[in-house]
Amino acid sequence: MVKETKLYETLGVSPTATEQELKKAYKTGALKFHPDKNRGDPAAEQKFKEISHAYEILSDPQKRQIYDQYGEAGLEGGAGAGPGMAAEDLFASFFGGMGGGFGGMFSGMHQQRGPAKAKTIHHVHQVSLEDMYRGKVSKLALQRSIVCPKCEGRGGKEGAVRKCMSCDGHGMKTMMRQMGPMIQRFQTVCPDCNGEGETVRDKDRCKQCFGKKTVVDRKVLHVHVDRGVKSGTKIEFRGEGDQAPGILAGDVVFEIQQKPHPRFTRREDDLLYQAEIDLVTALAGGTIYIEHLDDRWLSVEILPGEAISPGTVKMIRGQGMPSYRHHDFGNMYIQFSVKFPEKNWAATNPAAYEALRQVLPPPELVNTPPPDAMTEPGDLEDVDNTQRGFGGAAMEDDDEHEHPHAERVQCASQ
Ligand SMILES: [Zn+2]
Ligand SMILES: [Zn+2]
Repeated sequence: MVKETKLYETLGVSPTATEQELKKAYKTGALKFHPDKNRGDPAAEQKFKEISHAYEILSDPQKRQIYDQYGEAGLEGGAGAGPGMAAEDLFASFFGGMGGGFGGMFSGMHQQRGPAKAKTIHHVHQVSLEDMYRGKVSKLALQRSIVCPKCEGRGGKEGAVRKCMSCDGHGMKTMMRQMGPMIQRFQTVCPDCNGEGETVRDKDRCKQCFGKKTVVDRKVLHVHVDRGVKSGTKIEFRGEGDQAPGILAGDVVFEIQQKPHPRFTRREDDLLYQAEIDLVTALAGGTIYIEHLDDRWLSVEILPGEAISPGTVKMIRGQGMPSYRHHDFGNMYIQFSVKFPEKNWAATNPAAYEALRQVLPPPELVNTPPPDAMTEPGDLEDVDNTQRGFGGAAMEDDDEHEHPHAERVQCASQ
């Protein structure tokens, strides 16, 4: 006596049906209601799922026993009842085992769009600003997997590699575990082929790749760092990446990243330079020298009387970066800071202060209190500016940044 008959009715068999009868009923129903044959028919799709669900339970002797005794409620809550195998997977595993015939009928339905391809190898290529200014070719050695040339990716002698019988070539196996009244089923990597889906006898195994089908290869790629190239530019080598049997070779993508520079900051095609000058130069003029990116030094004249105040920005036209794929250059912007003399710089020569007062323009910034205001002396004391959070621009972090896959690409030159 069974508790429920719903699943049997779904398959159109009696509760006393044999395994063979269940199999036949599922086969007939699944083929009739398969979504590929009933496009745009939700009722058929629903029926296909119900048939699959019923067969999944009734074809499992332990689950069938629980169902007969307790009904579907007995299966619920146990890991075995869960969402179960997707209807399509059940279908594939059922018909996949028959070889040819029905198996080939819907083959390709689970394939992804476009041919499968190995993953792209991404690498950040750090380049100095000097190299971006002049342009260069970096030779980078890449470690990649290639299809084993000895066995041509078979893993062993021709004909010696066979489909694993234990998992039927899937690499995964469904196992059962009894936990009290519940049946737990779980997917696990096939222990007989370690998930490969194939087996080969040790003596037939390829001696070069040890059956792994691929070997490690070293390839040197020439990465063209063009004049004026910008940080973030990607240079792609199609098909030069990892290979694996049966799929397209992957790509290699180098992303150009500028290393921080001790003198210049780049903004598009312009260069920014911080120049510190003495107070006397700011006021009376003088020459400063700027080391450029190509061994030239610019001599920059500050005219007497220009009176460069701290923070002033000036520009030298055409001394920036070469414009990528154009024939002009950006500009160099110079921001001045002014170094004042040390405290008490003329302590031994008090006359110097008087001389300055004579030479410099008279003070303008005098804020005179009203005649009736009370005045009181305020004595100046030294403070530690950095601790009070005044002044002192934040220092640029010029550590080299970590980059992933560094171990796979090395500089082949130098
Ligand atoms: Zn091999
Ligand atoms: Zn296996």
